[in-house]
Parts: sequence; structure tokens; C-alpha cells
Amino acid sequence: MAADRQPTLSIVDGAKSEMKDRPRGHMSNLPDEPTNRGSATSSVHAGELRQQEANAITTPIYQTSTFWFRNSKEVTDYQEGKSKREEYGRYGNPTWRSVERKISALEGGEETILFASGMCAATTTFMALLPAGSHLIVTSDCYRRTRQFIKQFLSRMGVETTIIEPSNLEAFASAIRPNTKIFFTESPTNPYLRVIDVPAFTKLAHEKGVKVIIDSTFATPVNHKALSDGADLVLHSATKYLGGHNDLLAGTVTGPRELIEPIRSALGVLGGIIDAHAAWLLLRGIKTLDIRMERHNSNGLSLARHLEAHPMIRKVWYPGLESHPDHEIAERIMNGAGGVVTFEIETDLAGAMRFIDATTIPYQAPSLGGVESLIELPVTMSFWDVPKEKREELGITESLVRYACGIENAVDIIADIDQALTKV
Ligand SMILES: *Cc1c(COP(=O)(O)O)cnc(C)c1O
Repeated sequence: MAADRQPTLSIVDGAKSEMKDRPRGHMSNLPDEPTNRGSATSSVHAGELRQQEANAITTPIYQTSTFWFRNSKEVTDYQEGKSKREEYGRYGNPTWRSVERKISALEGGEETILFASGMCAATTTFMALLPAGSHLIVTSDCYRRTRQFIKQFLSRMGVETTIIEPSNLEAFASAIRPNTKIFFTESPTNPYLRVIDVPAFTKLAHEKGVKVIIDSTFATPVNHKALSDGADLVLHSATKYLGGHNDLLAGTVTGPRELIEPIRSALGVLGGIIDAHAAWLLLRGIKTLDIRMERHNSNGLSLARHLEAHPMIRKVWYPGLESHPDHEIAERIMNGAGGVVTFEIETDLAGAMRFIDATTIPYQAPSLGGVESLIELPVTMSFWDVPKEKREELGITESLVRYACGIENAVDIIADIDQALTKV
């Protein structure tokens, strides 16, 4: 990783990293909020109002469906844009606003919108920004439901899509058409954790007038600042690392006001809003984002290194390992490689199931990014309804395991894996 940005990726438990942030440029926060703070400070303080009722420290949950006007002049002033205030619960809530400002500060973006889920963030964004007759480019290693939305719904709305391999810049260049509006990709991707060379892709995209949207769920703004690397919008399933406690669903989109406004307006119509309590849980979760990511990063790297040296492991995918195809890109643009490690055991499906059933720390569940480690076999979970030939084409074998490290002690995660491997 770049010397001024990330520490040693070789830290095991508890070792302190000295993660440094690049200075953030534009953002719309509270008028007096400093813009040059690191991501640990922003995680805690950004977006929070210091002046709360009764001098409370934390932001309240505004559990209200609507906001009243004290007289008719307040209504007309608001309609004429002379005053800024909340109007109705589907358009905003002060609890959301704090979360939106906090994420804007962390991403270095002008504005953020909160959604009920990551899928809602993606579908609302696509619907707002892709007119009929336009063209979209996506990468193949893409969240299953996003792929399904593109295939099942966008096609019906007259949007054409081209799928390219992650990190294949030439394929991207030749996929661009005069009507191409958006390039959308995850980075890192799932399950192979491919890292997109965001500066190179955005440079090419912008030369052709194409907007770049990065689903940064696996990276978080602590590990990668997609907007600083040129992306137009950055999207999250905040259900994962941002929330961080396996206790809520949420989605976010961050970027410049001119792109955010049509998406915010589409959300007001489509209505996929988060409720105030979930927004508050997210606000609380993000306060520890930076410190949690340090542990996710160090646990991920320790586990990946250990597995790579284990005789029963056929292959490990982790961008922090020199053996990963995108290691060089990760070193250049990321501050850490995250908590998800994908690996293939030297066994069959039954052996892989025995392994998973013998683990005692992770829960077998879809998702990632929470304090509890989660484990899954992609073949029995997210790729269950993909036909075997198609699965094999994608390289999803029956002994492929995805381990999403929580924030437990790495020594315990590794000891648990080692004993489970003896049960294969
Ligand atoms: C989970 C996930 C989503 C979907 O988010 P939800 O919050 O579950 O709707 C989208 N993209 C990625 C990369 C994800 O991991």
C-alpha cells in the first residue's frame, strides 16, 4: 500500500495501524465543519449537530411521519425556496440528515442519500439516471440481485447492457457506444475480490462522456475513496461494513449535487426510504467504522496468509496477497484489503459442508461486514439457482468458501479454521 496511506498489512491482532487519509476536497457539511480530518475523526464527529435539545451528545431518533408549518407564510416561504426545512417523512428526516452528512464527509462527496437497502440504492439510481435507449456497462463479478435487476427490469425499460470482465480496460474501451451513459462496477467484487483500477477506468469513461458508479460495499470509504479516484458516484450496501453489526439494512449513494438531485427526486417518488430507527442504528454503527476496518483488514490478511500456506487449501483470493491478480492495483489505490477471504479447499461438496459445520466461530449466513464472522459456500448460498455448467464457467466450484472476518481475535479465527479443516 502507498507508504503515506497504509501501514503494514501484516498486522495480526490488536496491532495499531497509522492509517492516514488523503485530504478530502469538496463536501457539503455543516457550515463550520472542518474538511481535512481523518476518517476516524469523521466517523465519530462528522454530520452530528453539537447543539441538541438538552445538550444531549447523540442525535435523536426523529420518529415522526410529517413536519408542521406554524402558519401559512411558512408554507409559501418553503415552497418558494426561501427557507430550508423538512416537509414530509418520505422526503427527509433530521436523523437521516446526520447520517447523510457523515457519509458525505467520509467519502469526500457533496451529498449523500440514504435508502432502505443497498438494492434500493442501486435500482433507484439506475432508474433515475438511465433513460430509455441508453446503454449501461457492468462487470461480470456482480451482486446477483443487481444482475437480476439489469436483466429483468432495465431491459424492459429499453436500457441495453454490456457485461465485461473486471479490470479489462480494453474490453471496457470497446464496449463503449455513443449512447453509453454509465459504467457500474463493484470494487472489490464478490466473490473473487477483483479490484478495479478506478483512476484508469474513470479517465477513459470521462473522455467518452460516461459516468462511473462504484459499488464500494466491500471497500468502505476507509479502504478506498472512489470519488477522489475519479468516480462520479459511490454506492454502498450499508447493511455490511457501514452498519457493521449485522442488525440493520440500508443503502447509500454519494456524489455531486447535480447527480444526486435526480436520484433524490426519484426516491421521493419510488419511496424506498429507510426508517428513522434504522438510520439511527447506522449513525451509531459508523462511529466505529474506522477502528473496525483496521481489525477487519488485519484479520483478513492474517487469515489469507495462513490459508495460502495450508496444505489442504487449493487457492486463496485476497487482494492483500501478492498472488492476487489485482494486488498491484490494491496496493496503489486501497488503504487495506478488507475482511472477506475467498478460498477453495482440496475436497468435494460434502467435505466442504463438513468443514463449515465444524467451524465454531463464524455463523453460516449470507452477508459480511459485521462484528461477527460469517461463512458460506457460494454454491449453496448465492449461486444455488445458477445451473452447474454456468457456475463452473464462472469458476464457482463446490469447495469454494467465502469467509467474512468479523472483529474477533485472528488467532482464534485461525485456530477454529485449522480444527475444522481436520474434519473435512
Ligand atoms: C449486499 C450487497 C448488495 C445489496 O445490498 P442490500 O443492503 O442487501 O440490499 C449490493 N452490493 C453488494 C456488493 C453487496 O454485498
